[in-house]
Amino acid sequence: MNNAPEKQVGAPVVVVTGAARGIGLEIATRFAAAGKHVVLVDILDAVRDSAQALQRSGASVEAAQADITDEAAVQALVQELRSRYGRIDILVNNAGISPKHNGLKLPTEQTSLKEWKAVLDINLTGAFLLCRAVIPAMRERRWGRIINMASQAGRTGSGAAGAHYSASKAGLIGFARTLAIEVAGDNITVNCIAPGMVETALTAVQDENMKRNYITRIPMGRYGMPGDIAGTALFLASDDASFITGATIDVNGGTFTG
Ligand code: NAD
Repeated sequence: MNNAPEKQVGAPVVVVTGAARGIGLEIATRFAAAGKHVVLVDILDAVRDSAQALQRSGASVEAAQADITDEAAVQALVQELRSRYGRIDILVNNAGISPKHNGLKLPTEQTSLKEWKAVLDINLTGAFLLCRAVIPAMRERRWGRIINMASQAGRTGSGAAGAHYSASKAGLIGFARTLAIEVAGDNITVNCIAPGMVETALTAVQDENMKRNYITRIPMGRYGMPGDIAGTALFLASDDASFITGATIDVNGGTFTG
């Protein structure tokens, strides 16, 4: 772990995966601005720079460079946070990938097993590993919030994302529903956010024609911004959302309304 503060912090501890950039960085920024101590987890070196930039603005954050598919690394990270802070209050499973080839998804019959497994490992199994590791700390304090970053592609068929991505995001939604029931008695909620298309590095590589067509099908006439999604994450972690669990909130400008 990098940039770790030396002293114990009393503030609630938030773990955000995939926080080097994009939606995860915006979520981390907003939680830090709300007075939480935020651990930015990402496989990229850039997570250190992102954390340092937030620290310079006075935020209580630290970077943890880790691969969320590495069971031992996830376990070690969570153990270290528990021993240092004695609490993990909020987990945002946001890390994810959506492989593109020349800006487009591959049809299933051309998808390699290697790519299929990578998507399922990062998007779904990584969330399982993080949840399994943090739940004991949440149960101990009888409070917790888990937020999984699903996708509209897990709610409907998708022309933009591959079938492996849709499967992983639908899997996250199913995982959240059953986990929510398992942990509800300890006042832990588990919910998903299902964004439509959001302007980030993940969508920047997408085919321009496809993006131009897509925007004409968004009733609100614009792509989502990371702030749209971060606001929803903060709501789900707030006391106002304390009776919401096992739910999926669509954040898509009206593209899919159930
Ligand atoms: P992004 O690519 O900017 O951010 C994803 C982050 O996850 C990256 O920093 C990446 O390094 C990290 N990551 C990838 N594999 C990892 C691993 N094994 N361990 C740790 N970190 C890893 O993308 P984004 O658009 O900000 O996406 C964030 C989440 O939102 C993803 O789960 C994505 O599927 C979901 N989402 C995005 C959109 C969109 O249109 N951008 C729409 C719906 C859902």
